[in-house]
Amino acid sequence: MSVTHIKGADWVVGFDGSRHRYLRNADVVFSGDTITYVGKRYVGAADTVVDGSGKLVHPGLINTHGHASMEALKKGLLEDRGSSKLGMSGLFEYPLRAHSRDDVHVALRAGLTEMLKSGCTTVLEEGSHDLDSVEVVEKTGIRAYTTRVYSNGRWFTSNGHRVDYDLDNARGEKAMQESLDFTLAVNAAGKQRIRSMLSPLSPDACSKDILKETRRVADQKGLRVHVHCSQSVPEFHEMIRRHGQTPPEVLDECGLLAPDVSLGHLIFLNDHPWIQFQAANDFELVRASGANVDYAPWVFGRRGIIQYSFARWARAGVNISLGTDSFPQDMMHVMRWAAIFSKIADRDPHQGNAAQVFTAATLGGANTLGRDDLGRLAPGAKADVVLVDLDNLWMRPVRDPLRSLVFTATSRAVDKVFVGGELVVDDGRVLTEDEAQLAVELQAAAERTLEGSFPALDWAKRSPDEMFPYTFELWDGEPLTT
Ligand SMILES: [Zn+2]
Repeated sequence: MSVTHIKGADWVVGFDGSRHRYLRNADVVFSGDTITYVGKRYVGAADTVVDGSGKLVHPGLINTHGHASMEALKKGLLEDRGSSKLGMSGLFEYPLRAHSRDDVHVALRAGLTEMLKSGCTTVLEEGSHDLDSVEVVEKTGIRAYTTRVYSNGRWFTSNGHRVDYDLDNARGEKAMQESLDFTLAVNAAGKQRIRSMLSPLSPDACSKDILKETRRVADQKGLRVHVHCSQSVPEFHEMIRRHGQTPPEVLDECGLLAPDVSLGHLIFLNDHPWIQFQAANDFELVRASGANVDYAPWVFGRRGIIQYSFARWARAGVNISLGTDSFPQDMMHVMRWAAIFSKIADRDPHQGNAAQVFTAATLGGANTLGRDDLGRLAPGAKADVVLVDLDNLWMRPVRDPLRSLVFTATSRAVDKVFVGGELVVDDGRVLTEDEAQLAVELQAAAERTLEGSFPALDWAKRSPDEMFPYTFELWDGEPLTT
């Protein structure tokens, strides 16, 4: 087994058995895919020595909410947008569909490349994955839980002010069976870094029967579950209309508020300022259940929507993890926005601090995935290790390197990333992709997506330019005259 010794790092974020601690002038050693030593003055042998001077060494970040297989194709379109008659959501009026599975794979490679460059070593990647896309994920070198999302059907709008649902029991059962077959096939394949879990879409797109069946199968097969919940204003009101229950109450009845379940988003609880529904206590219901909260701050924040609040969960002892969801797939960017939005929501700069967001992006993610060997630098943990360049001007001056990283440098200072002991990012460049070639492919795939989706899939048949006007009007280039 090849031994790698990161020697004399200026700063190391080590794990003392219960929490992260800073070490100065310390070593991190791993053998194969497992960390064997974290501390000062390592004296054993090594096959490879990495100079740690001028470096911060920290555990790889864990992204518990990725949709890399599609979202990169929407960059430059969805910012500055939201449905103003549908709670500012981006879920209902932007039916952008990839032109082909090849284009899906291009987006997937681009998203996972962004993640790796931001020090993310593990992702819960949700989409309509199949065994081909699992191979694409595997080639990037990232550690991943890939899921095949299922539901009884989809939401849609045919007028821009009302959400309707096309749900069907037989369709839901078939989709769940296909998803389960996929999940079991991935887990049985014995891949080193790729696993899967159950992934029902959301309480509004699933029947209670499918959600209850998810609980039964999760118990029977020992699978964890991810489900979106409380992600839009229309979802909240639809659940009250359909069931007389809030979205968390629906999941609770179906057995999906539980410690093996991760709840995607949990924004619009009954006491969110945009909801204000008195006949429930969603926060307490989730807190008492032991379920995990999976928060993707940026995708909502860009529409003016935040959790109230990230730090409220952390203070209450609820396990909270962070996700990128859409784009950029940059986990350091996500840590920063989780921190800032919490300070705003709590009206308190002490909340959403660097310790809370870094813990959420590491140990919180590991808890969500049920893994005590991820998200930490400690003997026995997986060798998912990030080296940050402290000489990078964005990191200077260094007094408290995680604060510099979260609030200023973000991914610009990432130097090296190891996943399971394998170097996948070096000098800030991903080694498993030709980034220049990928950029060309992504451009073409995104153009095909936009052309194929608008006006064809829009309820009002709007053109791309009507739907997504440029930031500034195009100018024909006539020279200005004095
Ligand atoms: Zn999602």
